Parts: sequence; structure tokens; C-alpha cells
Amino acid sequence: MKTYKKKLIYILVFLMTSAITYGGKFSTVVLDAGHGGHDKGGSYGKVYEKHLALDTTLRVDYMLRKMGYKTHLTRQSDVFISLTKRAEIANRFKNSIFISVHYNYTYKKSINGLETFYYSGRSKPLATYVQAGMLKKYRANNRGVKYARYAVLRRSNNPACLVECGFVSNYSERKRCMQGWYRQKMAEGIVSGIVKYQDARRRGYVN
Ligand SMILES: [Zn+2]
Repeated sequence: MKTYKKKLIYILVFLMTSAITYGGKFSTVVLDAGHGGHDKGGSYGKVYEKHLALDTTLRVDYMLRKMGYKTHLTRQSDVFISLTKRAEIANRFKNSIFISVHYNYTYKKSINGLETFYYSGRSKPLATYVQAGMLKKYRANNRGVKYARYAVLRRSNNPACLVECGFVSNYSERKRCMQGWYRQKMAEGIVSGIVKYQDARRRGYVN
């Protein structure tokens, strides 16, 4: 009886510790402002995606650091970095997540809304939380969470997603993208998605 109880305690302790270590929290958020330098991304007149993406990324970085998160930026100024290099930087941080920030463009001017892409199955929860976070901050058209074979996502060893914070090719959305309050909303949404994802990791709901 005594050894049985002892065994039971051992099993319980094992289950508790394994529940804590399973999945587990990520330690760094690698933030990637899309495009830069000669690559201006999607553009309409003087509205360049590369500028909008960097501004939004810096806002995300500021908020995350204020909350105590460790972050790393693939670029902090208007410079060009190849897609391979971006993924390489991200992969230097072993237990990290990768968020690539973009604004959208299409020739069909009526198209608008937010979308988030992922590649690996492990990245889908992150993409889902971030997309939901953005939509909660601004009720834009929900274009959904989608699978895509983008190089930065494909080459990333860690959970990774690519957010599209609105179309510069759409008149109303472009007007919003040009304003600080809207980019702040997008940044807050991304941050809230990251926080919720970290919580899910901590609880072992996702790994
Ligand atoms: Zn882009």
C-alpha cells in the first residue's frame, strides 16, 4: 500500500512537470518589417508598403518590450534585406516566433481587408491568434487565415506568420493605413494575438 502511494505520487509529479515543460513558452519574438530599401513593396502614389510595415513593426516592438518580451527586428530602418537573410536571422533565435508585417496590394481596387498567412501546421495557431487580435481592434473585412508557401515562412524553423494589415490599393483602406491611429490598432492587435498565443503555449494548448 505504501509503495503504491509512493508510486502514485511519482506519477503525479511526473505528469505535473511534463505538463509544464510540454510546448512551453517561446522566449523571443522576431519581428520582420516587410520590404525596405529599393523594394518598396505595394505602393499607390507616395504610399509605400515598406514605410507602413516598418512603422507598424516598431509600434509592436515598443509595446512588447514594455510588457517584458524579448524582441529582435530584422530591420529597423529603410534597408533592403533578402528573404533568405530574414529567415536566417529568425532561425538564430532557437525558441522564438516570427512575425512578418506587410500591407497588401492588388490590381482589383475594390478588394480590402486583413489576412494572415502560415506555412507549417505548427504555425497555424499563431496565425489564428494574430488575425483574431487585429480584427478585434479594427472591424475590417476578414479575409481569413491562409496557407501560403512564402519563402520567409517556409524557411522559418519556428512558428511563423505573415500579416497583411490592409490594402494600399483600396481607396478607403489606404486612407486608414496612412494614419497613425490605424497602424497603432493593427500593432495592438498583433500584440494581443502574441500575448494570447504565449498564454496558450504556457498552458500547453499549443506547442
Ligand atoms: Zn509585402
